[in-house]
Order: sequence, then C-alpha cells, then structure tokens
Amino acid sequence: MEASDKAALGELTSTFGGELVCPGDPGYDEQRRVWNASIDRRPALVARCSGTADVSEAIRFARRTALPLAVRSGGHSFPGHSVCDDGVVADLRRMNEIQVDPEARTATVGAGTLLGELDRATQAHGLVVPAGIVTHTGVAGLTLGGGIGWVMRKYGLTIDQLLSVEMVTAEGEVVRASESENADLFWGIRGGGGNFGVVTEFEFRLNPLGPAVLAGPIFWPMADSPQVLRFYRDWIADTPDDLMTIVVHRMAPELDFIPPEIQGKPVVAVICCWAGDVEEGERVLRPLRSFGSPVLDLCEPKPFVEHQEMFDPSFPHGRWYYMRSCDVDVLSDEVIDLTVEHSMRIRSPLTAFPIWQMGGAVARVGEEETAFNGRQAGHTFNITAITDSAEGFDEEREWVRGLSSALEPHQSSSVYVNFLMQEGEDRVRDAYGEAKYERLKALKRRYDPENIFRLNQNIPPG
Ligand SMILES: Cc1cc2nc3c(=O)[nH]c(=O)nc-3n(C[C@H](O)[C@H](O)[C@H](O)COP(=O)(O)OP(=O)(O)OC[C@H]3O[C@@H](n4cnc5c(N)ncnc54)[C@H](O)[C@@H]3O)c2cc1C
Repeated sequence: MEASDKAALGELTSTFGGELVCPGDPGYDEQRRVWNASIDRRPALVARCSGTADVSEAIRFARRTALPLAVRSGGHSFPGHSVCDDGVVADLRRMNEIQVDPEARTATVGAGTLLGELDRATQAHGLVVPAGIVTHTGVAGLTLGGGIGWVMRKYGLTIDQLLSVEMVTAEGEVVRASESENADLFWGIRGGGGNFGVVTEFEFRLNPLGPAVLAGPIFWPMADSPQVLRFYRDWIADTPDDLMTIVVHRMAPELDFIPPEIQGKPVVAVICCWAGDVEEGERVLRPLRSFGSPVLDLCEPKPFVEHQEMFDPSFPHGRWYYMRSCDVDVLSDEVIDLTVEHSMRIRSPLTAFPIWQMGGAVARVGEEETAFNGRQAGHTFNITAITDSAEGFDEEREWVRGLSSALEPHQSSSVYVNFLMQEGEDRVRDAYGEAKYERLKALKRRYDPENIFRLNQNIPPG
C-alpha cells in the first residue's frame, strides 16, 4: 500500500466494526485462502465485515484508494474471483444471520450464510429454499448467478424464490430491490451476479419439503455407461418433477460407505433425489434401480440435510480444481459416446464429473422474467478436474479441455454463469444471450458506471 492508502486505512480502522487483516497480521494466510487451492493471491486488505455499514466502508475505502475490490461470501468462485492480488477483499462470511418465519413461509438470510446453515434452519420447520448440492457453498454467489440444485425441478431456481434483497451500491449507498422497488435492479441481480453491488441480505420464499427424501447414488461399472445413459435418457423423459438426478463419472471414492472392492474402480453413478411421497418415489425409481447390473445402490429414505452433505467429501476446500461447463439439449447417442470415451481417460482418483438434469419448474418460468439464461437447457455439464496438489493438475486440466472441445458441436447456446472460469467477455455474453446482455450492460451503466465491481463474470458498462 502507498502512504496515502495507509492514511485511508488508518481512518477506516476508526470506523470499521469488523476486523481488518493485512499482510503480516496473524491469520492473514487463512483469510486470503479460498476453496480452490489452485488460486493463490495476496490481497492488501481483507475487510471482515460485521454488517451492512462495514460493507459500505469497505467499498468507499476501495474507491478512495483506487485498489481493486473483490467480494467474498462463501469463497467458492471456481476462477477465484473473490480474492485478488494487492487489492481489498470485502468478506461477508460473518454476516450469516438467518431468520425463519414458518407462518409466513419466508426467511431473511445474511449474505455470508452457507447452504448447510440455510438448510438446517429451514428444514427445522420442514421448509426449504431450493439451492445447491454442497453445504459449504455460499448462498450469495450461488443465488446471484441463479442457483441450481436437488429440488429445482420441483420448486425452480434459488432466484425463483427470491422476494427481495438489500444491496450496497458502488457509491456505498444502501438500496432495496424487489418486484415493487427498483424492479429493474431486481431483474438484473437474479442471474447477473455481483455486477451491480454487494448484496448484504436476501429474503426468500420457503417451500415445504420432507424432511425425508428418497435419495442417493446407484453405481454401475463405467464400461456399462453407454447402455446406462441410453436407458437413463429415455427413462427421465417421463419422470415427474419431484425427481432430480445427477450423473457422475469418476473412480469410486475411498469413502466408508463404498465397499473396498469398488473403491478406485471407474464407475458411473446416477444420483437421485425424490422430493415427493417416499412410497411413490420407490415405484418411480424401480426401473432405474433394476436396469442392468448395478454394483451398489445407496438410494434410500433419509433426511434432506443428510443428502445435501453427500457431495461434501468429493469437493472439499483445499484441492486443486479446474472446470469447463456447457449446456446440452439432449443426451444424443453421440454425446453419450463422447462422454463415456473421455470419462474412461480420467486419471485422477479425485476427479468427479457431474451432468445435471435440468427442466421441470426451472423451465416453467419465462426466459425474460429474470437475467438467468438457459431455462430450457436439458442438461448442464460440469467437466471438473480435481487433484490434491499441483501434481498431475495440468494433465487433468487437459482432459477437461479435451472433453469440452469434443462437446462443442453438441452444446446449446446457454451456459450457466456460475460454472464459468475466466473465459473472456464473449463467453459471458454467451451466458446471457445478446438481448439480456445488452439490458444488463444498461443496468451496469446506471449502478456501476466505473466498474468498481469488476472481479466477477464481468459485464463492462462501456
Ligand atoms: C463445491 C462447489 C459446489 C457448487 N455447487 C453448486 C450448486 O449446487 N448449484 C449452483 O448453482 N452452483 C454451485 N456452485 C457454483 C457456485 O454457485 C458459485 O461458485 C458461486 O459463486 C459461489 O458463491 P460463494 O458465495 O460461495 O462464492 P464467492 O467466491 O464468495 O463469490 C463468488 C462471486 O460472487 C459474487 N458475490 C459473492 N458474494 C456476493 C455478495 N454478497 N454480493 C454481490 N456479489 C457477491 C462476487 O462476484 C464473487 O466473486 C458450486 C461451486 C462449488 C465450488
């Protein structure tokens, strides 16, 4: 920091309610760390905000010093947008208060809340906000990009349950947005990410769920995947929206519930989450469970919060991650064959590659109603490389790029913005489609003309 920046920091110290962490301070290394260990950046300041006023102060400080500003809630940005070199990180993790009103079926949720915290608070009342599949993901970043997860086919995206937000603008002012207040902003933040300001609080509508769901993975040898996926494609064409599935290709993980003789073997798993009546779910799932020769079937009635934790050990903090994503309309024979052929080449025992079943309630909301794009997508591919360290990472990343290129001719025009890496403006434009992108740009010119919020999937104002 320059001398003038240090003077500004001195002033910030006198008004900031949370904690300010600089290089050399105890805990600095912990505070600069994000989920993806392949990202290693050294900010000049981590401002651990204790409330909305601190968020305003952090934004004003970044403006005054002209330092870049990163915004962090759960820290799960794949490309590491929530930490920067030589800039300010506004960290909202401490702002994780949740208030559930079971009568009104609403919840107000601090922006630093993680999905597991939200699920525990809402499931205590048999209610849920449809959100993601790993409990340590942040509500904020996930929601602002759209939010896909286990009950989206029944209830829609996370943004489809959003009633209002409180947001701090680039000027440090506090505004609210909802259908009736700053409605244009409310449209934009439902998919447009952190481009317009820092959201400090979300208000969600809640929906009944469980608390028991019929859920878990069914495994087959990966060599059987061409047949399993063809059967799966035809079967899901007629299943109700209470069912959501994710297909994963990987080496079976070394986890307690996987028998030792299967661990390390290449498998394909169809992971189910039936969000309706359990007995009916048993009937609906029967054809899948009896197809071919599954080597392991762990699909059973369980509390939803338990199912939500299932993926946690596969995507922990501190591993090296790289990802490419695309949407695909249908699992054609060609797409299936490419998927299996490339999955057979996975080398890292940690790499896990999910294919999401989309549709249902997500597709019943109009494309123009929110900034999120791709409501008609059939499947979202998350081609993910995972290693323990730098060792083997480059090779596994090449594997990701190879499959991603092979799928290019089969991709639909949309791609989920929360699954992009640092891929350039054209790809962000693709994520929104031309018309929405231009509308988002106009909104950006109004709310952040100087592009203070640029460490994100950026929509430049110019
Ligand atoms: C293990 C894992 C599992 C995932 N699973 C799912 C899933 O099931 N469904 C799904 O939809 N996505 C999923 N994602 C993607 C996820 O939605 C994005 O990575 C999202 O950005 C994470 O939000 P965060 O708050 O944890 O991230 P952060 O890294 O804290 O933030 C990411 C970006 O979001 C913006 N941002 C964060 N907080 C705020 C705020 N308060 N106000 C304004 N902007 C903000 C900033 O631009 C920031 O750079 C997953 C990601 C990971 C790593």
